[in-house]
Amino acid sequence: MLPKKQILVVEDNQLNREMLMEILSDQYSVLEAGNGQEALEVLNEYGDGIALILLDVMMPVMDGFTFLDRIKADDDLALIPVIVMTQSDNETDEVAALSHGAADFVPKPYRPQVILHRVASIINLRETAAMVNLLQYDRLTGLYSKEYFYKKVREQLQENPDQEYSIVCSNVENFKLFNDACGVPAGDRLLQDIASLLKEQIGESGICGRYGADRFMCLQERSREQKDRCLFLKESREAGFPHLRDMAMSMKWGIYEIVDRSVSVEQMCDRALLAADSIKGQYNQHFAVYDDTLRGKLLREQAITDAMENALNEGQFTVYLQPKYSLHDDGLAGAEALVRWVHPEWGFMSPGEFIPLFEKNGFITQLDRYVWEQVCGLLQDWRQKGYPALPVSVNVSRADVYQSDLTETLLEIVHKYGVEPVQLHLELTENAYTENPEQIINTVEKLRKHGFVIEMDDFGSGYSSLNMLNQMKLDVLKLDMKFIQSETSKPAEQGILRFIVGLARWLNLSVVAEGVETRQQLDRLREIGCDYVQGYFFAKPMPKSEFELLMKDQIQTERKTDAANEVQMENAHQWRLLVVDEDSSYRECVRKTFEGDYQVLEASDVSAALEYLEENKTYGISVVILSTALPEDGAARFLKVLRQNPRQWQIPVLAVIPQGEEQMPDLDTDDFLCKRHPLRDLYRRVGRLMSLAAYQERERVLEDAAFRDYLTGLLNRRGFYAAIDAVRQNDLPLAIYLFDLDNLKKVNDRYGHDMGDKMLRFFSDLLQR
Ligand code: C2E
Ligand code: CA
Ligand code: CA
Repeated sequence: MLPKKQILVVEDNQLNREMLMEILSDQYSVLEAGNGQEALEVLNEYGDGIALILLDVMMPVMDGFTFLDRIKADDDLALIPVIVMTQSDNETDEVAALSHGAADFVPKPYRPQVILHRVASIINLRETAAMVNLLQYDRLTGLYSKEYFYKKVREQLQENPDQEYSIVCSNVENFKLFNDACGVPAGDRLLQDIASLLKEQIGESGICGRYGADRFMCLQERSREQKDRCLFLKESREAGFPHLRDMAMSMKWGIYEIVDRSVSVEQMCDRALLAADSIKGQYNQHFAVYDDTLRGKLLREQAITDAMENALNEGQFTVYLQPKYSLHDDGLAGAEALVRWVHPEWGFMSPGEFIPLFEKNGFITQLDRYVWEQVCGLLQDWRQKGYPALPVSVNVSRADVYQSDLTETLLEIVHKYGVEPVQLHLELTENAYTENPEQIINTVEKLRKHGFVIEMDDFGSGYSSLNMLNQMKLDVLKLDMKFIQSETSKPAEQGILRFIVGLARWLNLSVVAEGVETRQQLDRLREIGCDYVQGYFFAKPMPKSEFELLMKDQIQTERKTDAANEVQMENAHQWRLLVVDEDSSYRECVRKTFEGDYQVLEASDVSAALEYLEENKTYGISVVILSTALPEDGAARFLKVLRQNPRQWQIPVLAVIPQGEEQMPDLDTDDFLCKRHPLRDLYRRVGRLMSLAAYQERERVLEDAAFRDYLTGLLNRRGFYAAIDAVRQNDLPLAIYLFDLDNLKKVNDRYGHDMGDKMLRFFSDLLQR
């Protein structure tokens, strides 16, 4: 029978010590110490004969952490695993314990099953570690360290030249997410569990090591590896770790079959890891063997890396533009800049081929900077050519966000080309937020403060978080292409597209839908209230010259609508003469006399006349010729309505009296005339009335100037105060409304001051009406 392993219990509380003795003494021989100092003395005596230490943190003389520091500084003692006993739920203690080098912790009060289990598994992991140099082992898992693993593999390959082997590397996908969600100690424990599983699976003939972080590597006999492949998966899924499933995490295995032994072990491992990485994000794919395809990919990546700097210097990268359209007026509303690489030998390359690699090797920050400059150069050029000031979006990769001088870099570029920051929209992706929320929140705030417009790209693709929207002020939500395509394929009442658009509304964000490919998708988006669209249904990304043609088209359609509007305005300025007379032949005479100079409106009775007044409310009637012989006192009734209406009381009215009646009736008209007059007289009278009205109008205008706002014709502040002063007791109660046009500045900045003026006039018109 093997001798019992020795455990040292360091605890000042006598009662606790006795309890631990009770729990452990069946399986282990237990030594005791009442504080750190005593424990060091016991260690001096027994040295590394001790398999494990159970350590209390709070102790007199020398506390647990000081003791831990002491033994971790001692090369021999450092190998003895320590389990720290913490107050339950005290996370600070737990973290402190692990960072002082403890292998694990158990919370008080003690539960025998937990203690026995932890002690057993830690001793198991450290068994061999106690006998060899610490550097050969990974502290957390007890597997071989990277370097030592390489050394062991080299030895094994040399000793067994005829045996076929494979290198198997694994990677835990989304491990970081688990760490964030469950805490580092839990993450560590998960890694320890994976390590024990690996060791168990590989058995005596294999070698296991930890590459670092969440990556492991093994050497296995080829035949066994092929047999075991599925076993790994089964184990890690079923028996192994429920977390893996719960957290959407999975193990990815990469295999390198050793054929050519001249390849270094380091390279073999890199290739196996590369194979594991190649199936990243592919659900239900767990194994990948390094083969010619992967080798090709690797070589290709190498070639791209070798060529990129030169390509940038030689201007092989060009910017394509994909138009964005507004769903409010169906007009061209901007573009997204998308980079293309035209290589002299490889030809035309899409960003999908090189951007992910540039993101990995860091070259993306240089390329992005180049694209931003190109875009600002374009914007400057367009302004000089008199094109509309359309905004262009550029992509900002997450590596850019991590550059502390991002804002300064962008400001420098826009200033260099005299571009307003609002014209440069910045498309950021969510993954930057997932990785480092604080940094992106600060960066975005700073960029917005300088006037850049921030778009959240690919929203709805990854772990889209509503929390992000809550924490970070943005301007535009750009819905991911796949999200749009899957959402628009569902029945309208299902899915969350409507909810997301509503949410954006509520947060004051514009919504851009990307990847719109069909009319059905467009209709749905329009119905839901999306603001802008981009996609193959409208146009693919195109060279800038083609985009400029689109802009020219847009200008032309705008001119056409402007011209149409002008015709309407012209109409507005045409003078209208209303003749209200019961006698149709007289009306005809009037029409013939004034046709050409006026648009003549004929009414045979009062109600028809009033209808005309109502219809022509906006542009008004210039003059009225009114018969005093209308039945039922018609003329007086008409005048009463006319004079009561504040917008119409100034319309000059010429009364015409039936032939034979010389008496002018008592009516509030501006002039009168007898029907027997020659028509020439009528013509002259009307002319006189018109110029009188115009003169009066001018007088009024001059008088008003000091009290009226030039742009809208509304009372200005002074006029408004004067009007309030003139309010009399009888007028009360009154209410004051204050209207504020939100974001007018944005309109000015984005579409120019003319548009801003137009909006103000439109609104004042609305108010007045
Ligand atoms: P992204 O930013 O999500 O850009 C949209 C991609 O969707 C573009 O692919 C565009 O051509 C494509 N697309 C647009 N409409 C449709 C559609 O209706 N159907 C389909 N199937 N696809 C559509 P592209 O140009 O290949 O760019 C791919 C990705 O490369 C971009 O995705 C972006 O992440 C990255 N990228 C492109 N240019 C740059 C750049 O200058 N800097 C950075 N950092 N990344 C860039
Ligand atoms: Ca984009
Ligand atoms: Ca996108």
